[in-house]
Amino acid sequence: MPGVRVRFAPSPTGSLHVGGARTALFNWLFARGRGGRFILRIEDTDRERSSPEMVEDILGALRWLGLDWDEGPFLQSERLDRYRQVANQLLSANQAYRCFCSTAELTAKRQAAAASGKPWKYDATCRGLSPDRVSERQARGMPSVVRFKGPREGEVAFEDRIFGRIAHRTEQIEDFVLVRSDGMPTYHLGVVLDDLDMKISHVMRGADHISNTPKQILLYRALQRPVPEFAHLPLILGPDRTRLSKRHGATAVTTYRDQGYLPAPFCNFLALLGWSSKSEAESLSTDELIRRFALEGVNKSNAVFDLEKLAWFNSQYLRNAPAERLFPLIRAELEKEGIWKEELGSSDRAWMLTVVDLLKKRVRMVSDFATQGRAFFADDFEIEAKARRKFLKDKALPLLMPDLAARLGSLPVFGLEETESALRTFAAENGVKAGLLINAARALLTGKAVAPGIFEVMVALGRERTVARLSGTSWVENEQEG
Ligand code: GLU
Repeated sequence: MPGVRVRFAPSPTGSLHVGGARTALFNWLFARGRGGRFILRIEDTDRERSSPEMVEDILGALRWLGLDWDEGPFLQSERLDRYRQVANQLLSANQAYRCFCSTAELTAKRQAAAASGKPWKYDATCRGLSPDRVSERQARGMPSVVRFKGPREGEVAFEDRIFGRIAHRTEQIEDFVLVRSDGMPTYHLGVVLDDLDMKISHVMRGADHISNTPKQILLYRALQRPVPEFAHLPLILGPDRTRLSKRHGATAVTTYRDQGYLPAPFCNFLALLGWSSKSEAESLSTDELIRRFALEGVNKSNAVFDLEKLAWFNSQYLRNAPAERLFPLIRAELEKEGIWKEELGSSDRAWMLTVVDLLKKRVRMVSDFATQGRAFFADDFEIEAKARRKFLKDKALPLLMPDLAARLGSLPVFGLEETESALRTFAAENGVKAGLLINAARALLTGKAVAPGIFEVMVALGRERTVARLSGTSWVENEQEG
């Protein structure tokens, strides 16, 4: 599609929210799949609530997600002259007017309407003020806003790419504010001028903006400029079907980053919040998402944010990723836990990659490698209480385990089959069940009651560590006392 230009236009009044990230992702996927441009614009005209820290947070979160932008970030606060110039142009063309109604007056009218159960929109008190009256009030220093002078009859309609045709009578639309009394543009003026100046072809944003669109279209009309395509995206709800908020848990993208989720599965998860990929597989790479994304697959119905599902995408990603790709991430976690050893020899590295392949099928987060998998990377680890209780209580174990260790130590080849047959033969010779030895070995080798297959564990740990851990006796006193 030639000339696709889309934008993500967050207001930096808070951290990048999951919903914002989903909007950014859909715009980005749309641009990337169609040779288009993805433009980043920061809507920071609300000076009180915007902050440079939040701009940084948003940029950092987008970078982490891998959503690189082709133009920007443009700051609305740097374009104020442009908005004022167009507001003046609209005033001169009698398409806008100055309104001197005070906030107190407007609030009183709104409350009175609410009390009598009527809807209220600005009653256009100042719409008919003569130029003389306006000049006289301005000369007296009365504060004023600039309002759009909307058409009194007719229809404003648009074909939303997701929701279909949406039409309103223009007389139902109030004369909305374009410039506040402090000279700052409102969202409507800023967004329309920016989308025009930035030659935006498709406006894709949350469905919470759908009611703003008719006003913005009236503004395009007044400026005699073509209207972009609109695609309003379904909202994201929490599990209780109310709009996703902090009550449901973390909503900031950076929190998920800090909890150890990875950007690719996070994007995969976000992409399916409101979009059906039509693929059998749910786990999709970013390239596949780009290839498949289309507005036709975006749903009207709201999406439900499911944390379990996010964890599932993360674990699927880990399971399918080559160990080499995960290695730098795991290294960072090992460093955090203080169990990273500098000076890795090439055989150590190869060994670590084997361990990563073994563990990756069972972890949900990268940090699990260093916590649950600690025994694979370090010799100092604890045996968890459950593993002790279930698997190390048998009185025969303190005698059996060192002998089993010796048997394993003397194997000519330390492979899967060899270790297994040695253990089973040893069990038979000693008249105990193989399971008793396997469970005890699991506890002593990994510290856990649940772990990968025991012979894979032995081979991954190697002969030396296996023998040392099985023949060590430091666990015996604790276990055999009570
Ligand atoms: N700044 C608006 C927001 O954060 C976006 C407006 C738009 O996309 O038109 O909700």
